[in-house]
Amino acid sequence: MNCEICPAHCCGRNKNIGAPVLLPQEYAKFQLFSSKTVIDGIEFRRIIRGEDGFCVFLDSNNKCAIYNSRPFECRAYPYIIRADGSFVLSNNCPDNKSAQLPVNVPAIDEVWLKAYDKLPLDKI
Ligand code: SF4
Repeated sequence: MNCEICPAHCCGRNKNIGAPVLLPQEYAKFQLFSSKTVIDGIEFRRIIRGEDGFCVFLDSNNKCAIYNSRPFECRAYPYIIRADGSFVLSNNCPDNKSAQLPVNVPAIDEVWLKAYDKLPLDKI
């Protein structure tokens, strides 16, 4: 991946891309930097954005300030996980052709994953 050619689409204001959704096992770690919504009785948390519309962890040089410990959804991008556990490649990434399927995919609760598919892109 050549992220140098991208103005941080995945971390920024692209209206087709929602803020990163955390896995349940990441909620505690990012609690202070996430907002919550509930779908089908299941809690979801997303990384919040700053007043500039970008992820709060994106620094002034368009670099992720927590790159080595960023959430799974950020590590997987431009692959996006679907309700059946498969991955789909996003067209919003300008270098998606060089992307590789995520490795070390954490265990994800099936009920959570089904509801995840109903999560609006940018509503929380
Ligand atoms: S946590 Fe890092 S990689 Fe994820 S959206 Fe924010 S700046 Fe981008």
